[in-house]
Amino acid sequence: MVFMSNKILAITMNPSVDISYPITHLDIDTVNRVSNVTKTAGGKGLNVARVIHQLNEPVSTSGVLGGTIGDYISKQLKEVGLQEQFLHITQESRNCIAILHDDGQQTEILEAGPALTAQQQEEFMQHFTNLLSEVSLVTISGSLPQGFTADLYAQMIEAAAKQNVKVILDSSGKSLTAGISGANKPLLIKPNQEEIAQLVGRKLKDLTDLQEVLLNEEIFTNLEWVVVSLGKDGALAKVGQEIYRVSIPKINVVNPVGSGDSTVAGLAVGINRNETIPTVLKTAMTTGMLNTMEKETGHIDPSLFDEYFNKVSVEKL
Ligand code: ADP
Repeated sequence: MVFMSNKILAITMNPSVDISYPITHLDIDTVNRVSNVTKTAGGKGLNVARVIHQLNEPVSTSGVLGGTIGDYISKQLKEVGLQEQFLHITQESRNCIAILHDDGQQTEILEAGPALTAQQQEEFMQHFTNLLSEVSLVTISGSLPQGFTADLYAQMIEAAAKQNVKVILDSSGKSLTAGISGANKPLLIKPNQEEIAQLVGRKLKDLTDLQEVLLNEEIFTNLEWVVVSLGKDGALAKVGQEIYRVSIPKINVVNPVGSGDSTVAGLAVGINRNETIPTVLKTAMTTGMLNTMEKETGHIDPSLFDEYFNKVSVEKL
């Protein structure tokens, strides 16, 4: 008997420890003291993995991490029951600091992360290729570490295609362009409005304009699924040659950070469960919405899933 895996692998190439410093007032050029500090494992792919895990779908995490910061990330993933299959490197992973101050202002200090070598890129590709035999779908989220080439995602998509593993790519800039320009394509991309404008090279006028672009521009016609998330306005998706308009209810937003990642998690789970196109799209909008209703990034309350799922509507245009 051939063993068919149904596990999802969520990739984060440049994870971080996200440090939050809440202070009443930030004073420049002097000492600021802070208590109440939170430190959590961060990175878009880790948000994706957490939400997939909350939907009870088998999931593992990978990418590269190292040093004591890497150990902290690894420990936190294991604590929430996530399988950790990162390539461990000798350099330190990064910290990303958000200072929350002065009535809602947020000042961020983001480390670039370790500078990696061509040999480490080869080691990662070997590591990733080995993991592919255990999974049915891969999500790739976020930016690349320094030193890895812009075509890394294209290489990963090619390796996945060889083993019939589906890929969802959620990135931006050069790594997104390179990721959809290879001979093998990801099954799905989930650009937001900003990323779609980057890809097309101009801001889109309205939904009709967006629809025309999705149906006619070669970069999109070559892809099976393009799900453009539109924040509070839901999404517009192209699947094959069909366009779907996804409408969502008005909700109380607590923290929208990580909604795109939670949407990717919903897409991955729906596709991995072989759901119909409307169900996949509704699942993704529901996970996106539920994330905005929580304080914590990349986190949903699964007990609200059915209620909000039933409020999403999908119309084929
Ligand atoms: P990203 O976080 O990648 O920029 P979006 O802002 O498009 O992505 O959000 C992804 C999804 O999360 C949306 O399609 C929607 O389902 C949900 N969402 C985000 N912001 C809101 C909002 N203000 N109200 C309701 N749902 C939202």
